[in-house]
Order: sequence, then C-alpha cells, then structure tokens
Amino acid sequence: MNKIAPIGNTLPVAGSANADRKFKVGIVGAGSAGLFTAMIFDHLKENFGLDVEYEILERNGRDRVGGRLYTYNFPRGEEHHYFDVGAMRFPNIAIMSRTFALFRELDMDFCDQREKPDPWKKQTRPYKVRKPVKGDLIPYYLNGPNQVTLFNGVPVSNAKGLSADMFGITGLSPEYILLPFCSSQANSHSISSQIADDIMNHAIHEFTDVYYKRGPEAFWKLLTQEGDAYSVRHFLARAIPLVDHPTIEFLETLKYGKGWYDQSFTELVLQSLDHESQEAEVKWWCVEGGAQEIAKNMAASLKQTSALKFDKRVTAMSYIDHDNDGEKTGPFDKVEVKVDGERTPRIYDAVFNSVPLGAMEHMQLEGLNLNWGTKQAIRNLAYGSACKVGIRFRTMWWVKDGLNVFSGGISKTDLPLRWCVYPSYNIHDDPNRPAVLLASYTWGQEADRLGALINGASPHNEEELKQLLLHNLARLHTTDDASFEKLLKKLNDEYIDHYAYDWSAHPGSIGAIAYFGPGQFNNMYQWITRSNGKMMIIGEAASSHHAWVVGQLPCKTQDTVLSN
Ligand SMILES: Cc1cc2nc3c(=O)[nH]c(=O)nc-3n(C[C@H](O)[C@H](O)[C@H](O)COP(=O)(O)OP(=O)(O)OC[C@H]3O[C@@H](n4cnc5c(N)ncnc54)[C@H](O)[C@@H]3O)c2cc1C
Repeated sequence: MNKIAPIGNTLPVAGSANADRKFKVGIVGAGSAGLFTAMIFDHLKENFGLDVEYEILERNGRDRVGGRLYTYNFPRGEEHHYFDVGAMRFPNIAIMSRTFALFRELDMDFCDQREKPDPWKKQTRPYKVRKPVKGDLIPYYLNGPNQVTLFNGVPVSNAKGLSADMFGITGLSPEYILLPFCSSQANSHSISSQIADDIMNHAIHEFTDVYYKRGPEAFWKLLTQEGDAYSVRHFLARAIPLVDHPTIEFLETLKYGKGWYDQSFTELVLQSLDHESQEAEVKWWCVEGGAQEIAKNMAASLKQTSALKFDKRVTAMSYIDHDNDGEKTGPFDKVEVKVDGERTPRIYDAVFNSVPLGAMEHMQLEGLNLNWGTKQAIRNLAYGSACKVGIRFRTMWWVKDGLNVFSGGISKTDLPLRWCVYPSYNIHDDPNRPAVLLASYTWGQEADRLGALINGASPHNEEELKQLLLHNLARLHTTDDASFEKLLKKLNDEYIDHYAYDWSAHPGSIGAIAYFGPGQFNNMYQWITRSNGKMMIIGEAASSHHAWVVGQLPCKTQDTVLSN
C-alpha cells in the first residue's frame, strides 16, 4: 500500500520511441482550468506536433460550462437581465496580464461606449467605440457616484476612505496611540479616525514593497517566513503597536466580513497584490453578456470538438496496469476514471483534475495511493464561502428618485446584504425598463448565514430572504424612517423576481474560493502542486492567485500558448 507512482515518462515527444503512440488524457472539470488545459494541448499539437487526445469530463450540464464562471440569465429576460454569480470583474494590471492575453487569444474585443476612440495604450488592439455585443470586454466601474456606505446605522455618501469615527463607532482603544502610518502625517492620532486602508496597508506594504522592489522570489521567501504562520488577526495584533481586538474586528467588518481575518496573512497579502497596482490608473473590465462568455469562448475554441462531455460526474480514480483492450502495461501506466452511471470505466494515460478540493474529497481516490500529505491537503486546505443574490426590478430605481447611482460602483454596509453592486453593463439602458441589481454579495460567516435562507430551487421558498434583502436595500439607500418606509414599499412593488446562489451548497464547488488558513501555504500547498506526471491537481487551489481566474492559467504553459 501507499506506493507512490513513479514520475511518469508520459507524453510522446516527436522523434522519441513513444512518438507513434497516441496518448489520451482525461481532464476533470470544465471550469477555466480544465478548458485552458485543453487549449494547451491544441496548441501543442498545432505548433509542436504533439498529438494528445483529450476528453473533458464535467459533472454539470452544457448550460453550466465554466464552473465558477457562471452567469445567471433571468427567464424571459431582456438583453441585460443577468448577473455574474461567480467571477465578474478583471483589473488590467500586470499581475493579471495572462487573463488579458487569454481574452486576446479568444478574440474578445475591448469596447467602451463612452470614451474617445483613441487606442488604449496598454492593449495591442485598440478598444472599439460601439454598442458592445456578447463576449466584448466592457468597463467595470469599481466606484461610482453616489454609492453609499452604511455602518452602525450611519450612512456616508461618496466616502473616499473609511474610519470608525465616520460611523460614530467608539470604544476602539487605546484612544491615542503613536501610529507610524497616519495619513495626515501627525504622529499622535486616534485610531478610530484612521482610514482603515491605511492601517491595513501599514501591515501589508512591508511585503508588497519587496515584491515590487526585489521581485517575486524574495517576496515569497519573506512572506512565507514572516507571515504565513499567522492568521490575519494575529499578524495585525503583532504588527501594529497596541492595536486591540475591537479594532481588528472593526477592520474585518469594514473590509469583507466575519471570518476573513481567520485566513492566513499570506492570503491577504496575495489578494492585495491582485487588487493593487503600481500603475497610476487601473482600468477594470467585465464581459458583456456575463463572464461565462469567457468559458463559452474557450469551449468553442477547442479543436477536438467532441471532447467536452457534460453530465459526467467523476466518482473514482485509480492506477491500473492494463489498457483499454486489456493489454498489460506497467503498474502505474494508466489511470482509470469512473463516471457516475457508466458501467465501463474510462482509461487515460494521465489525468488533470481541476475540481475544487471539497469536491475532490468526495471522489474515491484510494486507488491513486496518494501519500498522507496530499490527502491532508485535499481534506484540510481551507475554502471561504460566498453568496450572491440578483434581483430583477421593474425599473432602475437606484438611478432615479434622487439616488442617482447612474454609473456602477458598490454600496457597502454591515447589514446582512453586505455589498450591493450596481451593474456596469446596464448603465446605458433605459432606467424606466426592468433591470437587474446584484443586491447582495457576502463572504465568510455572513455568507453562511445568508445561505441558510437560500435553497437549491431559488427563487422558490425564499420569501424570508427576499424580505430581508428588500429591507436592507431600503435602509442602505435612505437616511430617515419616512423615506425608508416609502422606498421599502416601492421595492416591494417593483420586485419581479430574484436568483440566489450559495457556493458552499453545491456539490461541484463546496465553497467559493480557496482561502488557506495559517501555515497552510508553507506546509500543505506543496502537496497539491507536486505531480507524478499521471494525476495532476490543477485549478484554483493549486495556484497562488486564489479567487482570480488568472490563477487557472498556468504561467509556463500559458506563456507557450499565448505568446505564439
Ligand atoms: C463569488 C465568486 C466571485 C469571484 N470573482 C472573481 C472575479 O471577479 N475575477 C476573477 O478573476 N475571479 C473571480 N473568482 C474566482 C474564479 O471564478 C475562480 O478562481 C475560477 O473560475 C476557478 O476555476 P477552476 O477551473 O479552478 O474551478 P471551477 O471553475 O470551480 O471548475 C471546476 C469544475 O469541476 C466540476 N466538477 C466538480 N466536481 C466534479 C466531478 N466529480 N466530476 C466532474 N466535474 C466536476 C465543476 O462542476 C466545475 O465546472 C470568483 C469566484 C467566486 C466563487
């Protein structure tokens, strides 16, 4: 037992002894990682003559190609009656360049209705000024005019930076401490008047500076040595003099929500790199028609047109010592894959397994003789929860009636809905027509709690969720009880339908994003990234860019594919 399969001498190399043999690989999961792997094989065949047959096995139906690239379209909807349930926005910064190279590879045009038709310098292809069509990249407005922040019952409009003082939050002690990171340059300040981002940046910049000045290797070494063993809350308590528990809880509430600071400090620093840029102006993009268009384009680009198999849930994998015809091979030469409902197992020379680790744990993998480290990593590497709820209303009430949220952005609150995202793709539409609002976006414990009101047949039997969110929306967008009552009535009148999704409640994801705990990058990550050349774990958890599609576009192979 527990013999490890040898490093595979697997793929046929032109001119080598095994060059004539046709290799067949299985790819499990048709999310961005699985689809991109297939694109790589197409590229290798086209450019290097490496002829590998592939088959992609996806548990969902064809309409759900893309995994966490998932766009929900409301029934009988108009052009923009959709929302992105998973990935929705893409900053064009250096660290995301592979995502944008993929967009180019897929011939996705940059399109902006509002700007001058100058070529956008960073793109090799100028963006187009026209009405976008499905699959075009269009601007995503991270911030917009008149977005609101409501914490502790205190609404603040168009806030540039958030502090506890703004919301009348007291009791963050000690009241006066020496803060080396005061944005105002003063050396003695109340922590509650500090801009929350300044406090966080103080802790993070020590590491990100190393990334920008000394490169990724020095950065990774420092981060894993100095930061990885700690949770975010523990690291902050160590790094910032005299910062106390209420302050850390406040920062967590303000930024993302309960549970976010239980992840390893490494995750927070990596996320900050993924959001930040040294560049002066960062442009964010989303996809007309929804981010699932990326997956549809990837699928459509595949050269092996019948390779994508839907409704194929992989239940088990093991090494075997014979091929499809029963011919004897070496003991670890083939991988047998069992699919739910199929009597005959599928046999491959190698398998790329892209399913999220929660779903992987539910596969029977005993026959792979995985070592303890890999088993522990599959079982224990942490994931975070997220829920999204889109609501279709009879009009864009948020654009009208004095609210004037006419250009995207996000309103944030400590109420259970947490983030209300005003879509960027419908800002040119008639505000008096029905439209979709991403009414709630939650993470961590708050997503777990909201998830209790979401069932698998949304919107049915979700009256409690609906009433909670309409209440929260009305509170978020009003400042007194009279206008609250009026808006609440209007929202009830204008509500058409909704769709809610809890990423933890679906067996193909079991969690929203990889979200490693303290020490897990240092001690477990290597167990899922190492490969024996026969069964490779790929996908989000095996990358260091959790929560971003770019992590699923592996660097070396991607460079090979996209630079040609
Ligand atoms: C709420 C949310 C918001 C996000 N926002 C952004 C964003 O704005 N920008 C960004 O770049 N990224 C974002 N991300 C992250 C991005 O969506 C993911 O990192 C990426 O899509 C993951 O791709 P993947 O191929 O690794 O996994 P997945 O997309 O999860 O693909 C895995 C596939 O495996 C299938 N599968 C599971 N079990 C089995 C089985 N037993 N047999 C066969 N198939 C199986 C699943 O159905 C799925 O299709 C977000 C993610 C979430 C959840």
